[in-house]
Amino acid sequence: MSLKGKTAVVTGSNSGIGLGVARALAGAGADVVLNSFTDRPEDHALAAALVAEFGVAARYMPADLSKADEARALVEAAARCDILVNNAGIQHVAPVDQFPVERWDAIIAINLSSAFHTTAVALPMMRKAGWGRIVNIASAHGLTASPFKSAYVAAKHGVVGLTKTVALETAEEAITCNAICPGYVLTPLVEAQIPDQMKVHGMERETVIREVMLTRQPSKEFATVEQLGGTTVFLCSDAAAQITGTTISVDGGWTAL
Ligand code: NAD
Repeated sequence: MSLKGKTAVVTGSNSGIGLGVARALAGAGADVVLNSFTDRPEDHALAAALVAEFGVAARYMPADLSKADEARALVEAAARCDILVNNAGIQHVAPVDQFPVERWDAIIAINLSSAFHTTAVALPMMRKAGWGRIVNIASAHGLTASPFKSAYVAAKHGVVGLTKTVALETAEEAITCNAICPGYVLTPLVEAQIPDQMKVHGMERETVIREVMLTRQPSKEFATVEQLGGTTVFLCSDAAAQITGTTISVDGGWTAL
């Protein structure tokens, strides 16, 4: 599968799943725009590393996706966007009646509204190019709920709804829009929680992963950022040209329960 000549914008891609997806797209030959809200030398170094490893063009472009104008300006500044991966996301856990309003607003803005803004700017570019792929990184929480995650669950269900609507609006064009719904993924953030959980529960690493962290993931294994990258590349391939408006779960069976 070659994505040579395509430009991918991956939001929230200076770590975790976004970086894994950007690496997979670069590995398939796509030029890549990396993004997060910070503007540090190490962010730009991530783009330089993709150039060195894969021989593609890569840039890091800071934009705070909690702000509509910055989300839109990111895609405008990219100038070309054949593949848009809406990945940026944050989490906050609290009961509904104690959920801080500021956290609710931030989660809806970053996890849901930013995908609307980037898509709105990317679609005319895709139409001009006559081809496009939109991949929204939703979550198992886009299809099911957990207590204390009201904003996250609402935003991720919203992303799935946005995905279906955009797919219908582009159905007769060579543009697809799909959502990937990961279960628990082994990102640096999750990895960092394991030693604490081992201490709190007095358990070995493998036991804490199986019994505590992956209680809802029947496979009892984390998904990996490489697997999410591979799923994204598949959705960008010709084999997936008739896959649109759907969700692909990468969750070890979570949503089959
Ligand atoms: P992460 O914290 O490593 O990545 C989140 C990315 O979003 C980072 O690059 C961060 O800098 C960026 N970001 C946060 N706020 C931003 C803002 N205001 N503007 C621009 N960028 C911003 O976490 P991750 O686990 O890689 O999560 C990536 C996506 O995958 C999220 O949408 C998350 O909801 C989703 N997801 C993660 C898991 C998991 O288990 N890790 C499971 C399901 C879904």
